[in-house]
Amino acid sequence: MNQLINSKGFYGEFGGAYIPEMLYPNIEHLAGSYIRILKSESFRKKFRDLLSDYVGRPTPLFYAGRLSGSVGAKIYLKREDLCHTGSHKLNNVVGQTLLAIEMNKKHIIAETGAGQHGVATATVCALMGLPCTVFMGEKDAGRQQPNVMRMKMLGAEVIPVFSGSRTLKDATNEAIRHWINHPVETHYLIGSTIGPHPYPDLVTRLQGVISEEIRRQLLKAENREYPDCVIACVGGGSNAAGTFYHFIDDKRVRLIGTEAGGEGPGSGKTAATIESGTPGIIHGCRTLLMQTRDGQIKEAHSISAGLDYPGIGPLHSYLHKTGRAEYLAVTDREAMQAAHMLARLEGIIPALESAHAIAALQKLNFKKTDCVVVNLSGRGDKDMESYMSSMQNI
Ligand SMILES: *Cc1c(COP(=O)(O)O)cnc(C)c1O
Repeated sequence: MNQLINSKGFYGEFGGAYIPEMLYPNIEHLAGSYIRILKSESFRKKFRDLLSDYVGRPTPLFYAGRLSGSVGAKIYLKREDLCHTGSHKLNNVVGQTLLAIEMNKKHIIAETGAGQHGVATATVCALMGLPCTVFMGEKDAGRQQPNVMRMKMLGAEVIPVFSGSRTLKDATNEAIRHWINHPVETHYLIGSTIGPHPYPDLVTRLQGVISEEIRRQLLKAENREYPDCVIACVGGGSNAAGTFYHFIDDKRVRLIGTEAGGEGPGSGKTAATIESGTPGIIHGCRTLLMQTRDGQIKEAHSISAGLDYPGIGPLHSYLHKTGRAEYLAVTDREAMQAAHMLARLEGIIPALESAHAIAALQKLNFKKTDCVVVNLSGRGDKDMESYMSSMQNI
């Protein structure tokens, strides 16, 4: 695996660490230690054991026969929806919590949008006996009550954030503010490939287990180590980064990311950052983001709370800029239809986020012999209300 970042944490012009001075010592300590810890035998053993016995890895690589027939290519689904707590998020949380313990941190804080990252963090903190505080926009907390209840039952403190649009971006601001005031004892457990260096690279490496398994599983199923194409949805970009990771240097593999197009281009209601963003700085890194001409961050819109973010991880800005990966915008309506199709064809109800990846199958042209892997990042239990209210319109 080639090193994708330079020593300052830049992927080309994107990435880096734009942080208040108060956080320098923290970020430098983390940036100076994470590779050594991740590569140590003791970390690797603990991580491997928890991934297998607690998270439930390896997740299956499932040949979706009826979906394949309908698309006209060989479609495999990487079943991250079968991870404990219902999504890929737990891979990153297990790894970062082990790292935090190794670095002698006593308190974990996290931000959450739909609540999936908050639940994953509350879960591992309960397992490890660490106090956990989750910041969540007040609007998100209102619309994601089951996840708020799960976090509370797991013993986490959930702090509603009333500033700005009362969603993920504001929860992230509040988590950073808390971290600035408690830098020594706290680890800020970021839930995606965003934030200042080294977070994007750290989270990419931890989620890289997804593509590592795909290689192994494909070798067994198809007698080849690489697919012709991999597809994953992109919010901040962590499940896509993990799905791409071991294939980035392999030009035989087409890399496709799907963004949340909301109500479509020109509607003003979108979260498709690659499609409509420009370079700027958000939450500590330089990347593409949705902003007004004078640099005010615009509000994102997506039917799926997990993709509702006005920025995108710097790795994806870079893969887009260099042309190595392609990004498609999928509208709310297309995602909704894809979710219903997958439920009826394969008996799998995907998370609304993951439905954006499934929808790409309808937008791309494949040969019958093409081998395509779609990352199913999470399960749809949390989205049943949206699915039911859309039934009439499908
Ligand atoms: C959080 C989430 C996402 C979006 O986050 P990424 O960091 O882009 O992966 C996608 N799918 C599910 C199921 C999620 O919970």
